[in-house]
Amino acid sequence: MASESTRSGEGAGTDRSAPVSALETARRQLEHAAAELDLDPNVVERLKHPARVQRVSIPLERDDGTVEVLEGYRAQHDDVRGPFKGGIRFHPDVSEAECIGLAMWMTWKTAVMDLPLGGAKGGVVVNPKDLSENERERLTRRFAEELRDIVGPNTDVPAPDMGTDPQTMAWFMDAYSVQQGETTPGVVTGKPPEIGGSYGREEAPGYSVAIVVREACKYYDRPVEGATIAVQGFGSVGANAARLLESWGADIVAVSDVNGAAYDPEGLAVQEIPAHDETPEAVTDSDGDAITNEELLELDVDVLTPCAVGNAITGANASDIQADLVVEGANGPVTFAAESILQQRRIPVVPDILANAGGVTVSYFEWLQDINRRKWSRERVNEELEAEMMAAWESIRDEYERRDVSWRTAAYIVALSRVARAHELRGLWP
Ligand code: NAD
Repeated sequence: MASESTRSGEGAGTDRSAPVSALETARRQLEHAAAELDLDPNVVERLKHPARVQRVSIPLERDDGTVEVLEGYRAQHDDVRGPFKGGIRFHPDVSEAECIGLAMWMTWKTAVMDLPLGGAKGGVVVNPKDLSENERERLTRRFAEELRDIVGPNTDVPAPDMGTDPQTMAWFMDAYSVQQGETTPGVVTGKPPEIGGSYGREEAPGYSVAIVVREACKYYDRPVEGATIAVQGFGSVGANAARLLESWGADIVAVSDVNGAAYDPEGLAVQEIPAHDETPEAVTDSDGDAITNEELLELDVDVLTPCAVGNAITGANASDIQADLVVEGANGPVTFAAESILQQRRIPVVPDILANAGGVTVSYFEWLQDINRRKWSRERVNEELEAEMMAAWESIRDEYERRDVSWRTAAYIVALSRVARAHELRGLWP
């Protein structure tokens, strides 16, 4: 799945109490970072609310001729730095509040990367596995039509997320283009390369995770060559990160998928293990010793990169983590409670908002290629991604050192300062 999304409730989950909603979490993170900065409280107040939320009803004709009316949303949080940007998910748990929280989170993610984009998120309350391909196509086209007035290459640019993929984006782009009377590839990103998608988009989140692991290792005086690394989730993000890190000389001692994990203290031959979407049983059938996902998380390694799901490291298992460093590849794999335990234990956590931001960054490259009608080579994409990741890493590292805060807070400070400054400069109208 190509997504630039977060899970529901990024950073959420107080473990022992009721889970916190995405919106609550996003507001809490905003207040936390704002407290570190001398910000105009009026700007902070404004950022607690989305600019707009569109709620739509989508009549979907099922293959048997019956019509079902589905609910959909597009939350646009902030576009002070450029067009709204964020995924569209098809999932039964989609809600208005979740879309708003995730849209806020996208604002910080694009700002951390210093991309001239804002934050949005949308979705339809549906389980896409219950739909045929024709039904998914009709749903996507009708949803695109319902959103037509508020999306566009200069206003709001959706992307794939949970339950949506490059084909979904192709239908969305086609529906929009037909109504506009012109082919408009820049209305969405994450498209197939044949119709304006970018080379390297699929590999980008894993690529950025690998870059951040490399830089974090260097920061803690442990070169990536010879570092031992455990990767939870050998999917799009995890497999791409693991393969790149191995090619840089790291020992990938354990990888896992939903079925279990493989472990070899000498390092697994990860280039030869197909990713989960290629061969679902590949990890458990590979040469390493079989261990559980829980055991993988507790291995004594230099770096642990949870790249599978949210809430993998919680208050319940944070005390058992033996890694020296955690780099979040998935969205929100470390809960608030877990992070405070890891902080007390002096295990740094480098946040998702930076580590997997390669996805939205290459989405930005795709948008540039679309509006300029000029395709970039894979080499150029990777070169520019490396440069953007290094610039973001350096800004966050500077805040981390200057303010003596966690890596996550440092990332939010970088993002919020940029968004708040843009609001101050542009002012309130009228
Ligand atoms: P994916 O479906 O390609 O891979 C997920 C992997 O995790 C699979 O190997 C799966 O078997 C494994 N897995 C699932 N549940 C598990 C569990 N409970 N325990 C252990 N392993 C489990 O997904 P992906 O695209 O690689 O995304 C992974 C994470 O990264 C998600 O949190 C996603 O939101 C985030 N992310 C993805 C992208 C992207 O563009 N792909 C971008 C940014 C963030």
